[in-house]
Amino acid sequence: MRRKLYLETFGCQMNELDSELVLGQLRAQGYETVEDRDAADVILYNTCSVREHAEQKVWSRLGELRDRKKRDPGVVIGVIGCMAERDGPSLFQRHPHVDLLCGPGELDKLPGMVHNASVAATERRNAGATKRERQVALMGANARRSGTLEAAADNLELLDLSRSISPSDDLAQAYVRITRGCNKFCTYCVVPYTRGPEVHRPPQNVIDEVRRLADAGVREVTLLGQTVNHYHYRHGDGRTTSFAELLYQVHEAVPHLPRLRFVTSFPRDFTDEALAAMRDCERICRYLHVPAQSGSDRILKLMNRGYAARQYTDFIDRARAMMPDVSIASDFIVGFPTERDEDFRQTVELLRHCRFKNSFIFKYSPRPGTAAIDRFADDVPEDVKRRRNNELLAVQQEVSAENNRQMVGKSVQVLVEGESKLMAKPAYPKAPGGGVELLWERRKASQAESEQPAEPLTQLVGRTRGDRVVVFDGNLSMRGALLDVEIVDARSLTLFGRLCKAAAAPA
Ligand code: SAM
Ligand code: SF4
Repeated sequence: MRRKLYLETFGCQMNELDSELVLGQLRAQGYETVEDRDAADVILYNTCSVREHAEQKVWSRLGELRDRKKRDPGVVIGVIGCMAERDGPSLFQRHPHVDLLCGPGELDKLPGMVHNASVAATERRNAGATKRERQVALMGANARRSGTLEAAADNLELLDLSRSISPSDDLAQAYVRITRGCNKFCTYCVVPYTRGPEVHRPPQNVIDEVRRLADAGVREVTLLGQTVNHYHYRHGDGRTTSFAELLYQVHEAVPHLPRLRFVTSFPRDFTDEALAAMRDCERICRYLHVPAQSGSDRILKLMNRGYAARQYTDFIDRARAMMPDVSIASDFIVGFPTERDEDFRQTVELLRHCRFKNSFIFKYSPRPGTAAIDRFADDVPEDVKRRRNNELLAVQQEVSAENNRQMVGKSVQVLVEGESKLMAKPAYPKAPGGGVELLWERRKASQAESEQPAEPLTQLVGRTRGDRVVVFDGNLSMRGALLDVEIVDARSLTLFGRLCKAAAAPA
Protein backbone atom coordinates (compact mmCIF):
# COMPACT_ATOMS: atom_id res chain seq x y z
CA MET A 1 0.00 0.00 0.00
CA ARG A 2 1.27 3.50 -0.82
CA ARG A 3 2.20 5.54 2.22
CA LYS A 4 0.33 8.80 2.65
CA LEU A 5 2.09 12.14 2.95
CA TYR A 6 0.76 15.47 4.23
CA LEU A 7 2.95 18.55 3.57
CA GLU A 8 2.05 22.08 4.65
CA THR A 9 4.13 25.03 3.49
CA PHE A 10 4.63 28.37 5.25
CA GLY A 11 6.48 31.46 4.05
CA CYS A 12 7.97 32.63 0.79
CA GLN A 13 8.02 31.45 -2.84
CA MET A 14 11.39 29.80 -2.16
CA ASN A 15 9.64 27.51 0.33
CA GLU A 16 6.84 26.79 -2.15
CA LEU A 17 9.44 25.72 -4.69
CA ASP A 18 11.32 23.60 -2.13
CA SER A 19 8.04 21.87 -1.25
CA GLU A 20 7.32 21.14 -4.89
CA LEU A 21 10.77 19.59 -5.38
CA VAL A 22 10.51 17.56 -2.17
CA LEU A 23 7.04 16.31 -3.14
CA GLY A 24 8.35 15.22 -6.55
CA GLN A 25 11.10 13.18 -4.87
CA LEU A 26 8.80 11.61 -2.30
CA ARG A 27 6.18 10.75 -4.93
CA ALA A 28 8.91 9.00 -6.90
CA GLN A 29 9.54 6.94 -3.75
CA GLY A 30 5.93 5.84 -3.75
CA TYR A 31 4.30 8.40 -1.46
CA GLU A 32 0.82 9.65 -2.20
CA THR A 33 -0.12 13.15 -1.03
CA VAL A 34 -3.28 13.69 1.02
CA GLU A 35 -5.15 16.84 2.08
CA ASP A 36 -6.35 15.33 5.34
CA ARG A 37 -3.58 15.46 7.94
CA ASP A 38 -5.28 12.80 10.07
CA ALA A 39 -5.08 10.31 7.20
CA ALA A 40 -1.31 10.75 6.71
CA ASP A 41 1.52 8.38 7.69
CA VAL A 42 4.09 11.16 7.26
CA ILE A 43 3.39 14.79 8.26
CA LEU A 44 5.87 17.47 7.18
CA TYR A 45 5.89 21.21 7.82
CA ASN A 46 8.05 23.35 5.55
CA THR A 47 8.61 26.31 7.83
CA CYS A 48 9.54 30.00 7.83
CA SER A 49 11.51 31.90 10.49
CA VAL A 50 11.38 35.40 9.08
CA ARG A 51 8.89 36.64 11.68
CA GLU A 52 7.87 35.23 15.05
CA HIS A 53 4.26 35.02 13.91
CA ALA A 54 5.17 32.50 11.18
CA GLU A 55 6.94 30.31 13.74
CA GLN A 56 4.01 30.46 16.17
CA LYS A 57 1.72 28.90 13.58
CA VAL A 58 4.06 25.92 13.30
CA TRP A 59 4.38 25.62 17.10
CA SER A 60 0.64 25.38 17.35
CA ARG A 61 0.42 22.77 14.53
CA LEU A 62 3.06 20.67 16.31
CA GLY A 63 1.19 20.99 19.61
CA GLU A 64 -1.94 19.61 17.94
CA LEU A 65 -0.02 16.48 16.93
CA ARG A 66 1.09 15.43 20.40
CA ASP A 67 -1.97 13.27 21.07
CA ARG A 68 -1.88 11.79 17.58
CA LYS A 69 1.69 10.59 18.16
CA LYS A 70 0.70 9.04 21.51
CA ARG A 71 -2.16 7.16 19.85
CA ASP A 72 -0.12 6.20 16.81
CA PRO A 73 3.65 6.01 17.36
CA GLY A 74 4.01 4.87 13.74
CA VAL A 75 3.25 8.33 12.32
CA VAL A 76 6.33 10.32 11.23
CA ILE A 77 6.37 14.05 12.06
CA GLY A 78 8.99 16.25 10.42
CA VAL A 79 9.96 19.93 10.48
CA ILE A 80 11.85 21.10 7.42
CA GLY A 81 12.99 24.52 6.19
CA CYS A 82 14.16 27.62 8.04
CA MET A 83 12.73 26.84 11.51
CA ALA A 84 14.47 23.47 11.53
CA GLU A 85 17.76 25.19 10.69
CA ARG A 86 17.27 28.05 13.16
CA ASP A 87 15.95 26.10 16.15
CA GLY A 88 17.98 22.94 15.58
CA PRO A 89 17.69 20.00 17.99
CA SER A 90 16.37 22.33 20.74
CA LEU A 91 13.07 21.91 18.94
CA PHE A 92 12.93 18.32 20.26
CA GLN A 93 12.87 19.63 23.85
CA ARG A 94 9.71 21.56 23.22
CA HIS A 95 8.16 18.92 20.97
CA PRO A 96 9.63 15.48 21.71
CA HIS A 97 7.16 13.84 19.33
CA VAL A 98 8.98 15.32 16.30
CA ASP A 99 11.00 12.65 14.42
CA LEU A 100 12.83 14.60 11.76
CA LEU A 101 14.57 17.96 11.25
CA CYS A 102 15.92 19.04 7.88
CA GLY A 103 17.23 22.52 7.03
CA PRO A 104 16.69 24.18 3.62
CA GLY A 105 20.31 23.54 2.64
CA GLU A 106 19.99 19.77 3.22
CA LEU A 107 16.74 18.96 1.45
CA ASP A 108 18.46 16.60 -1.00
CA LYS A 109 18.79 14.23 1.98
CA LEU A 110 15.11 14.34 2.88
CA PRO A 111 13.85 11.27 0.95
CA GLY A 112 16.43 9.05 2.73
CA MET A 113 15.57 10.60 6.07
CA VAL A 114 11.84 10.09 5.60
CA HIS A 115 12.50 6.49 4.63
CA ASN A 116 14.64 5.84 7.72
CA ALA A 117 12.16 7.56 10.01
CA SER A 118 9.29 5.56 8.50
CA VAL A 119 11.09 2.25 9.01
CA ALA A 120 11.86 3.14 12.63
CA ALA A 121 8.31 4.34 13.22
CA THR A 122 6.78 1.19 11.75
CA GLU A 123 8.97 -0.91 14.03
CA ARG A 124 7.74 1.14 16.95
CA ARG A 125 4.16 0.69 15.89
CA ASN A 126 4.52 -3.07 15.46
CA ALA A 127 6.78 -3.93 18.35
CA GLY A 128 5.70 -1.25 20.77
CA ALA A 129 9.38 -0.23 21.07
CA THR A 130 10.01 3.07 22.77
CA LYS A 131 13.50 3.79 21.39
CA ARG A 132 13.60 7.02 19.31
CA GLU A 133 15.85 7.35 16.32
CA ARG A 134 15.67 10.90 15.16
CA GLN A 135 16.75 12.05 11.74
CA VAL A 136 18.59 15.37 11.65
CA ALA A 137 20.22 17.18 8.72
CA LEU A 138 21.24 20.79 9.32
CA MET A 139 23.97 23.01 7.94
CA GLY A 140 24.55 24.38 11.45
CA ALA A 141 27.81 26.20 12.03
CA ASN A 142 29.14 24.93 8.68
CA ALA A 143 26.49 26.93 6.88
CA ARG A 144 28.84 29.62 5.68
CA ARG A 145 32.10 27.69 5.29
CA SER A 146 33.33 27.60 1.73
CA GLY A 147 34.50 23.93 1.72
CA THR A 148 31.16 22.55 2.80
CA LEU A 149 29.44 25.16 0.69
CA GLU A 150 30.62 23.70 -2.59
CA ALA A 151 29.55 20.16 -1.74
CA ALA A 152 26.19 21.37 -0.44
CA ALA A 153 25.66 23.49 -3.54
CA ASP A 154 26.31 20.49 -5.79
CA ASN A 155 23.83 18.33 -3.87
CA LEU A 156 21.21 21.06 -3.91
CA GLU A 157 21.74 21.51 -7.62
CA LEU A 158 20.78 17.86 -7.99
CA LEU A 159 17.57 18.56 -6.07
CA ASP A 160 16.60 21.32 -8.53
CA LEU A 161 17.62 19.19 -11.50
CA SER A 162 15.52 16.28 -10.18
CA ARG A 163 12.35 18.27 -10.76
CA SER A 164 9.74 16.02 -12.33
CA ILE A 165 7.70 17.86 -14.92
CA SER A 166 4.87 16.21 -16.74
CA PRO A 167 2.27 17.67 -19.10
CA SER A 168 -0.43 16.25 -16.82
CA ASP A 169 0.66 18.56 -13.98
CA ASP A 170 -1.69 21.28 -15.24
CA LEU A 171 0.75 23.98 -14.27
CA ALA A 172 0.14 27.53 -15.48
CA GLN A 173 2.88 29.08 -13.38
CA ALA A 174 6.14 27.76 -11.99
CA TYR A 175 9.15 28.96 -10.03
CA VAL A 176 12.74 28.36 -11.06
CA ARG A 177 15.54 29.11 -8.63
CA ILE A 178 18.53 31.00 -9.99
CA THR A 179 20.25 31.94 -6.72
CA ARG A 180 20.27 30.31 -3.29
CA GLY A 181 21.03 31.96 0.04
CA CYS A 182 21.95 35.57 0.74
CA ASN A 183 25.09 37.56 1.60
CA LYS A 184 23.49 40.89 2.47
CA PHE A 185 23.10 40.44 6.23
CA CYS A 186 20.37 43.00 6.79
CA THR A 187 20.49 43.27 10.57
CA TYR A 188 16.89 42.12 11.17
CA CYS A 189 16.93 39.08 8.88
CA VAL A 190 17.47 35.36 9.56
CA VAL A 191 17.78 34.31 5.91
CA PRO A 192 21.62 34.47 5.61
CA TYR A 193 21.80 32.11 8.62
CA THR A 194 19.05 29.69 7.64
CA ARG A 195 19.68 29.50 3.89
CA GLY A 196 23.42 30.03 3.93
CA PRO A 197 25.62 31.99 1.54
CA GLU A 198 24.69 33.17 -1.92
CA VAL A 199 25.24 30.52 -4.63
CA HIS A 200 24.31 31.05 -8.29
CA ARG A 201 23.08 28.24 -10.51
CA PRO A 202 24.74 27.60 -13.90
CA PRO A 203 22.81 29.48 -16.62
CA GLN A 204 22.46 26.39 -18.79
CA ASN A 205 20.71 24.51 -15.96
CA VAL A 206 18.31 27.43 -15.51
CA ILE A 207 17.60 27.59 -19.25
CA ASP A 208 17.04 23.82 -19.48
CA GLU A 209 14.62 23.88 -16.55
CA VAL A 210 12.64 26.81 -17.97
CA ARG A 211 12.51 25.10 -21.36
CA ARG A 212 11.25 21.81 -19.89
CA LEU A 213 8.54 23.72 -18.01
CA ALA A 214 7.47 25.63 -21.13
CA ASP A 215 7.46 22.35 -23.13
CA ALA A 216 5.08 20.92 -20.51
CA GLY A 217 2.68 23.84 -21.01
CA VAL A 218 3.73 26.28 -18.28
CA ARG A 219 2.78 29.83 -19.34
CA GLU A 220 4.64 31.88 -16.76
CA VAL A 221 7.98 31.21 -15.08
CA THR A 222 9.21 33.27 -12.13
CA LEU A 223 12.97 33.24 -11.54
CA LEU A 224 13.70 33.21 -7.82
CA GLY A 225 16.43 34.57 -5.61
CA GLN A 226 16.55 36.51 -2.33
CA THR A 227 18.45 39.18 -4.27
CA VAL A 228 17.62 37.86 -7.71
CA ASN A 229 19.20 40.72 -9.65
CA HIS A 230 22.53 40.09 -7.94
CA TYR A 231 22.84 36.91 -10.02
CA HIS A 232 26.28 36.41 -11.55
CA TYR A 233 27.62 33.02 -12.46
CA ARG A 234 31.36 32.51 -12.73
CA HIS A 235 32.16 29.84 -15.34
CA GLY A 236 35.17 27.53 -15.05
CA ASP A 237 37.01 29.50 -17.77
CA GLY A 238 36.68 32.80 -15.90
CA ARG A 239 33.75 34.22 -17.91
CA THR A 240 30.82 35.62 -15.97
CA THR A 241 27.13 35.54 -16.87
CA SER A 242 25.34 38.57 -15.40
CA PHE A 243 21.67 38.82 -14.47
CA ALA A 244 20.96 40.88 -17.60
CA GLU A 245 22.67 38.26 -19.77
CA LEU A 246 20.71 35.48 -18.09
CA LEU A 247 17.43 37.32 -18.83
CA TYR A 248 18.33 37.74 -22.51
CA GLN A 249 19.47 34.11 -22.77
CA VAL A 250 16.34 32.61 -21.18
CA HIS A 251 14.10 34.87 -23.25
CA GLU A 252 15.80 33.88 -26.46
CA ALA A 253 16.23 30.18 -25.69
CA VAL A 254 12.57 29.62 -24.73
CA PRO A 255 10.51 31.53 -27.31
CA HIS A 256 7.36 29.54 -26.53
CA LEU A 257 7.21 30.81 -22.91
CA PRO A 258 4.68 33.68 -22.90
CA ARG A 259 5.74 35.23 -19.59
CA LEU A 260 9.01 35.46 -17.68
CA ARG A 261 9.27 37.33 -14.38
CA PHE A 262 11.63 37.45 -11.40
CA VAL A 263 11.59 38.21 -7.65
CA THR A 264 12.92 39.58 -5.29
CA SER A 265 15.17 42.43 -6.42
CA PHE A 266 17.64 44.30 -4.27
CA PRO A 267 17.62 48.07 -4.96
CA ARG A 268 21.39 48.50 -4.88
CA ASP A 269 22.25 45.89 -7.51
CA PHE A 270 20.06 46.91 -10.43
CA THR A 271 22.10 47.65 -13.55
CA ASP A 272 20.86 49.63 -16.56
CA GLU A 273 21.56 46.48 -18.62
CA ALA A 274 19.02 44.49 -16.57
CA LEU A 275 16.43 47.27 -16.94
CA ALA A 276 17.16 47.37 -20.67
CA ALA A 277 16.58 43.59 -20.88
CA MET A 278 13.14 44.12 -19.31
CA ARG A 279 12.42 46.95 -21.72
CA ASP A 280 13.63 45.15 -24.84
CA CYS A 281 12.33 41.60 -24.32
CA GLU A 282 8.58 41.64 -24.88
CA ARG A 283 7.86 38.45 -22.94
CA ILE A 284 9.65 39.66 -19.78
CA CYS A 285 6.98 41.10 -17.50
CA ARG A 286 7.50 44.72 -16.57
CA TYR A 287 7.11 44.02 -12.89
CA LEU A 288 9.59 44.67 -10.09
CA HIS A 289 9.34 43.62 -6.47
CA VAL A 290 12.04 45.70 -4.89
CA PRO A 291 11.72 46.13 -1.11
CA ALA A 292 12.57 49.58 0.27
CA GLN A 293 12.07 48.60 3.97
CA SER A 294 12.21 52.25 5.16
CA GLY A 295 12.36 55.82 3.88
CA SER A 296 14.66 57.02 6.66
CA ASP A 297 18.41 57.05 5.98
CA ARG A 298 19.11 56.62 9.68
CA ILE A 299 16.96 53.47 9.88
CA LEU A 300 18.25 52.10 6.55
CA LYS A 301 21.76 52.39 7.98
CA LEU A 302 20.80 50.54 11.17
CA MET A 303 19.22 47.88 8.95
CA ASN A 304 22.50 47.58 6.98
CA ARG A 305 20.62 47.92 3.69
CA GLY A 306 23.53 49.64 1.97
CA TYR A 307 21.59 52.47 0.29
CA ALA A 308 20.01 55.79 1.22
CA ALA A 309 16.38 56.68 0.51
CA ARG A 310 17.47 59.02 -2.29
CA GLN A 311 19.35 56.22 -4.05
CA TYR A 312 16.23 54.07 -3.81
CA THR A 313 13.92 56.71 -5.26
CA ASP A 314 16.48 57.51 -7.98
CA PHE A 315 16.42 53.86 -8.96
CA ILE A 316 12.60 53.84 -9.14
CA ASP A 317 12.67 57.04 -11.23
CA ARG A 318 15.29 55.47 -13.53
CA ALA A 319 13.19 52.32 -13.98
CA ARG A 320 10.08 54.43 -14.76
CA ALA A 321 11.98 56.60 -17.20
CA MET A 322 13.00 53.49 -19.13
CA MET A 323 9.61 51.74 -18.80
CA PRO A 324 6.77 54.15 -18.03
CA ASP A 325 4.35 51.22 -17.64
CA VAL A 326 6.49 49.26 -15.15
CA SER A 327 4.58 48.07 -12.12
CA ILE A 328 6.52 48.13 -8.84
CA ALA A 329 5.86 46.51 -5.45
CA SER A 330 7.75 46.99 -2.20
CA ASP A 331 8.20 45.68 1.38
CA PHE A 332 8.41 47.82 4.50
CA ILE A 333 9.26 47.12 8.12
CA VAL A 334 7.66 49.52 10.60
CA GLY A 335 8.72 49.90 14.24
CA PHE A 336 12.37 48.98 13.67
CA PRO A 337 14.34 49.78 16.87
CA THR A 338 14.64 53.52 17.54
CA GLU A 339 12.20 54.41 14.71
CA ARG A 340 10.68 57.82 15.53
CA ASP A 341 7.68 59.56 14.03
CA GLU A 342 10.04 61.58 11.83
CA ASP A 343 11.58 58.38 10.40
CA PHE A 344 8.13 57.00 9.76
CA ARG A 345 7.06 60.23 8.00
CA GLN A 346 9.97 59.74 5.61
CA THR A 347 8.75 56.20 4.89
CA VAL A 348 5.28 57.54 4.08
CA GLU A 349 6.85 60.15 1.77
CA LEU A 350 8.91 57.51 -0.01
CA LEU A 351 5.84 55.36 -0.57
CA ARG A 352 3.91 58.33 -1.96
CA HIS A 353 6.80 59.28 -4.23
CA CYS A 354 7.23 55.77 -5.62
CA ARG A 355 3.51 55.08 -6.07
CA PHE A 356 3.88 51.33 -5.60
CA LYS A 357 1.34 48.93 -7.04
CA ASN A 358 1.25 47.33 -3.60
CA SER A 359 3.41 47.00 -0.51
CA PHE A 360 3.90 44.20 1.99
CA ILE A 361 4.08 45.92 5.36
CA PHE A 362 5.47 44.14 8.43
CA LYS A 363 5.89 45.08 12.07
CA TYR A 364 9.48 44.57 13.19
CA SER A 365 9.89 41.16 14.78
CA PRO A 366 13.15 40.60 16.70
CA ARG A 367 14.71 37.33 15.53
CA PRO A 368 17.19 35.35 17.61
CA GLY A 369 20.58 35.05 15.94
CA THR A 370 20.33 38.31 14.00
CA ALA A 371 22.55 41.35 14.55
CA ALA A 372 19.58 43.59 15.35
CA ILE A 373 18.44 41.57 18.36
CA ASP A 374 21.93 41.81 19.87
CA ARG A 375 22.52 45.45 19.04
CA PHE A 376 19.18 47.15 19.63
CA ALA A 377 16.36 47.01 22.14
CA ASP A 378 12.95 46.38 20.57
CA ASP A 379 11.92 49.79 21.88
CA VAL A 380 8.98 50.79 19.68
CA PRO A 381 5.83 49.89 21.64
CA GLU A 382 3.47 47.37 20.05
CA ASP A 383 0.62 49.89 19.77
CA VAL A 384 2.90 52.34 17.92
CA LYS A 385 4.00 49.56 15.53
CA ARG A 386 0.36 48.69 14.92
CA ARG A 387 -0.61 52.34 14.33
CA ARG A 388 2.24 52.88 11.86
CA ASN A 389 1.42 49.61 10.11
CA ASN A 390 -2.23 50.63 9.67
CA GLU A 391 -1.33 54.15 8.59
CA LEU A 392 1.14 52.98 5.94
CA LEU A 393 -1.37 50.41 4.73
CA ALA A 394 -4.01 53.13 4.38
CA VAL A 395 -1.64 55.34 2.35
CA GLN A 396 -0.74 52.38 0.14
CA GLN A 397 -4.41 51.58 -0.40
CA GLU A 398 -5.05 55.17 -1.46
CA VAL A 399 -2.13 55.00 -3.92
CA SER A 400 -3.21 51.57 -5.20
CA ALA A 401 -6.78 52.75 -5.73
CA GLU A 402 -5.53 55.79 -7.73
CA ASN A 403 -3.21 53.57 -9.79
CA ASN A 404 -5.98 51.08 -10.45
CA ARG A 405 -8.48 53.77 -11.46
CA GLN A 406 -6.13 54.72 -14.29
CA MET A 407 -6.51 51.20 -15.63
CA VAL A 408 -10.26 51.55 -16.24
CA GLY A 409 -11.05 51.46 -19.94
CA LYS A 410 -7.77 49.73 -20.86
CA SER A 411 -7.41 46.25 -22.26
CA VAL A 412 -4.95 43.97 -20.52
CA GLN A 413 -3.73 40.43 -20.95
CA VAL A 414 -4.40 38.17 -17.95
CA LEU A 415 -3.14 34.73 -17.08
CA VAL A 416 -6.17 32.94 -15.64
CA GLU A 417 -5.35 31.46 -12.23
CA GLY A 418 -8.73 29.88 -11.48
CA GLU A 419 -11.98 30.57 -9.75
CA SER A 420 -12.15 33.67 -7.59
CA LYS A 421 -12.88 33.21 -3.88
CA LEU A 422 -15.83 35.54 -4.34
CA MET A 423 -17.26 33.44 -7.15
CA ALA A 424 -20.81 33.43 -5.80
CA LYS A 425 -21.97 36.12 -8.21
CA PRO A 426 -20.90 37.58 -11.57
CA ALA A 427 -17.86 39.86 -11.38
CA TYR A 428 -19.57 42.75 -13.06
CA PRO A 429 -23.13 43.59 -14.01
CA LYS A 430 -24.05 42.09 -17.37
CA ALA A 431 -24.05 44.34 -20.41
CA PRO A 432 -27.53 45.27 -21.58
CA GLY A 433 -29.23 42.72 -23.78
CA GLY A 434 -27.23 39.56 -23.27
CA GLY A 435 -24.43 39.90 -20.73
CA VAL A 436 -20.68 39.72 -21.11
CA GLU A 437 -19.43 38.54 -24.41
CA LEU A 438 -17.38 35.41 -24.09
CA LEU A 439 -15.01 35.34 -27.01
CA TRP A 440 -13.76 31.98 -25.78
CA GLU A 441 -17.25 30.54 -25.83
CA ARG A 442 -17.80 31.80 -29.36
CA ARG A 443 -14.56 30.19 -30.51
CA LYS A 444 -15.57 26.89 -28.95
CA ALA A 445 -19.00 27.10 -30.49
CA SER A 446 -17.66 27.71 -33.96
CA GLN A 447 -15.27 24.80 -33.60
CA ALA A 448 -17.97 22.29 -32.82
CA GLU A 449 -21.47 23.54 -33.32
CA SER A 450 -23.41 20.91 -31.45
CA GLU A 451 -20.89 19.79 -28.85
CA GLN A 452 -21.53 19.78 -25.10
CA PRO A 453 -23.47 22.75 -23.73
CA ALA A 454 -21.16 25.64 -22.71
CA GLU A 455 -19.78 25.41 -19.19
CA PRO A 456 -21.57 27.61 -16.65
CA LEU A 457 -20.28 31.11 -16.01
CA THR A 458 -18.31 31.68 -12.88
CA GLN A 459 -16.07 34.39 -11.48
CA LEU A 460 -12.42 33.93 -12.46
CA VAL A 461 -9.28 35.59 -11.21
CA GLY A 462 -6.29 36.36 -13.39
CA ARG A 463 -3.08 38.41 -13.21
CA THR A 464 -1.79 41.02 -15.59
CA ARG A 465 1.84 41.15 -16.69
CA GLY A 466 2.28 43.82 -14.04
CA ASP A 467 0.96 41.43 -11.33
CA ARG A 468 -2.40 43.19 -10.96
CA VAL A 469 -5.32 41.01 -9.91
CA VAL A 470 -8.31 41.06 -12.28
CA VAL A 471 -11.68 39.46 -11.58
CA PHE A 472 -14.00 38.68 -14.49
CA ASP A 473 -16.67 36.25 -15.62
CA GLY A 474 -15.70 33.18 -17.58
CA ASN A 475 -15.68 29.46 -17.20
CA LEU A 476 -13.34 26.95 -15.66
CA SER A 477 -11.99 25.68 -18.96
CA MET A 478 -10.16 29.02 -19.22
CA ARG A 479 -7.85 28.16 -16.31
CA GLY A 480 -4.23 28.60 -17.41
CA ALA A 481 -5.18 30.57 -20.55
CA LEU A 482 -3.87 34.02 -21.50
CA LEU A 483 -6.89 36.16 -22.29
CA ASP A 484 -7.61 39.80 -23.12
CA VAL A 485 -9.83 41.57 -20.63
CA GLU A 486 -11.20 45.11 -20.65
CA ILE A 487 -11.06 46.80 -17.25
CA VAL A 488 -14.42 48.24 -16.30
CA ASP A 489 -14.05 49.02 -12.61
CA ALA A 490 -11.30 49.24 -9.98
CA ARG A 491 -10.75 48.97 -6.22
CA SER A 492 -7.48 49.28 -4.34
CA LEU A 493 -6.70 45.56 -4.44
CA THR A 494 -8.67 44.36 -7.44
CA LEU A 495 -9.55 45.29 -10.99
CA PHE A 496 -12.87 44.16 -12.47
CA GLY A 497 -13.07 43.33 -16.14
CA ARG A 498 -14.86 41.62 -18.96
CA LEU A 499 -13.46 39.41 -21.66
CA CYS A 500 -12.85 41.30 -24.83
CA LYS A 501 -11.85 40.88 -28.38
CA ALA A 502 -9.52 43.85 -28.57
CA ALA A 503 -5.76 43.32 -28.58
CA ALA A 504 -4.30 43.49 -25.09
CA ALA A 505 -1.83 46.11 -23.98
CA PRO A 506 0.74 44.94 -21.44
CA ALA A 507 -0.02 46.37 -17.99
N1 SAM B 1 15.25 39.13 0.07
C1 SAM B 1 14.20 40.01 0.11
C2 SAM B 1 14.73 41.42 0.36
O1 SAM B 1 15.86 41.69 0.36
O2 SAM B 1 13.96 42.29 0.63
C3 SAM B 1 13.11 39.63 1.11
C4 SAM B 1 13.34 38.51 2.03
S1 SAM B 1 12.36 38.42 3.48
C5 SAM B 1 12.09 36.73 3.48
C6 SAM B 1 10.80 39.11 3.07
C7 SAM B 1 10.47 40.35 3.84
O3 SAM B 1 10.26 40.04 5.19
C8 SAM B 1 11.54 41.42 3.88
O4 SAM B 1 11.53 42.21 2.73
C9 SAM B 1 11.20 42.21 5.09
O5 SAM B 1 10.34 43.28 4.79
C10 SAM B 1 10.46 41.20 5.96
N2 SAM B 1 11.24 40.84 7.16
C11 SAM B 1 12.40 40.17 7.20
N3 SAM B 1 12.83 40.05 8.47
C12 SAM B 1 11.92 40.67 9.25
C13 SAM B 1 11.80 40.90 10.65
N4 SAM B 1 12.72 40.48 11.49
N5 SAM B 1 10.71 41.58 11.09
C14 SAM B 1 9.76 41.99 10.23
N6 SAM B 1 9.82 41.82 8.90
C15 SAM B 1 10.89 41.16 8.41
FE1 SF4 C 1 17.17 39.10 4.29
FE2 SF4 C 1 18.34 41.37 3.47
FE3 SF4 C 1 19.02 39.01 2.39
FE4 SF4 C 1 16.62 40.05 1.85
S1 SF4 C 1 18.63 40.95 1.32
S2 SF4 C 1 17.08 37.94 2.42
S3 SF4 C 1 16.11 41.05 3.77
S4 SF4 C 1 19.37 39.64 4.50
